[in-house]
Amino acid sequence: MFIDIHTHLPQYNDIELDEIVNRWRLVKVQYVISTGTTIDDSRRSILLSKKYKDVLAGIGMHPSDLTQNWKNDLIELKKLSDNNLSMISEIGLDYQEISPDKHVQKDTYSVLKNFSFNYNPGAIHYFDGSYEDARKMIDLGYKISFAKTLLRYDHLKNVAQKIPIEDIVIETDSYPQYFKKNRQRWTEPKDVKLVAQEISRIKNIEIDKVGKITSSNALNFLKI
Ligand SMILES: [Zn+2]
Repeated sequence: MFIDIHTHLPQYNDIELDEIVNRWRLVKVQYVISTGTTIDDSRRSILLSKKYKDVLAGIGMHPSDLTQNWKNDLIELKKLSDNNLSMISEIGLDYQEISPDKHVQKDTYSVLKNFSFNYNPGAIHYFDGSYEDARKMIDLGYKISFAKTLLRYDHLKNVAQKIPIEDIVIETDSYPQYFKKNRQRWTEPKDVKLVAQEISRIKNIEIDKVGKITSSNALNFLKI
């Protein structure tokens, strides 16, 4: 069994979703976290978690989706957080050129930090740092989440090799990839198994065991 801790399910339409869910069930993905990056997506995540027993709701606001209305959005998020919630997703700072003003982001971050959520350290999603970065996060109580980039990048393979499997979780960060013409090539939650396979190869641990341990690592911070 596997748990995909970060996907953008709200962005798929309902017909797509039924098929995507069937495909992940075939490869024994036990739970998929549906990430909210806006208020609307967060609401839809909650709806999806009610529709599919193996979808867990994450709510949040991506730093690059912040608007001048962010204070109201946070109040709305707080209300949503009382609802069947499994995790807060997409929190942090974003330094891409197109991202909103960093002051706005920093204010938001400090508000979030002081928010009275029932807060447990979660995971550093789509980890792309060095071993030292990973170590610092692990010391704060966070898990390191690897995505399919682990299959491509040596610096990530190196991190995965050095940190204990007890600190690792896995994800696909799936979203509708309209830019890929071949629909078969879109990443989906079923592909979380590829990430587990790569960890299995790097650490020389059987894939079933990788699935079991990374799932129990995720269950430690998820509210189910
Ligand atoms: Zn994402």
